[in-house]
Amino acid sequence: MDGDCIFCRIVKGESPAKFVYKDEDFVAFYDIRPSAPVHVLLVPAEHIESINSVEERHGRVISKMVLKAKVIARQLGIADSGYKLVINVGRGAGQIVFHLHIHLIGGWSKEKDEN
Ligand code: 5GP
Ligand code: ZN
Repeated sequence: MDGDCIFCRIVKGESPAKFVYKDEDFVAFYDIRPSAPVHVLLVPAEHIESINSVEERHGRVISKMVLKAKVIARQLGIADSGYKLVINVGRGAGQIVFHLHIHLIGGWSKEKDEN
């Protein structure tokens, strides 16, 4: 646990977020600065800094998050139009919050896809 971590605070309910899913292992909420029409973050309850610090024991929660991303994509209507699951690893890749998270990004218009 990291006292200064914004995602730990969101997980603990100490900072607000617009949740789409929550259980004891992980949460999913809308990104505050969406980079696409649909932009949801899936965040484990445990403070794991990045994929670089993932251990064997984290396999279960990561697989649960991926499976839930599929369900959320369906619920939000982007399963068939297509979406990306993105994990930025390290500053050089654009990671700014050092609490592991999966970006679920989609909802681009058909016109945009064709341009
Ligand atoms: P990263 O660049 O680390 O992969 O992604 C971090 C993401 O977290 C960014 O897309 C950013 O907009 C989002 N973010 C940062 N702070 C907050 C916050 O307080 N609330 C929410 N909902 N999203 C946040
Ligand atoms: Zn954290």
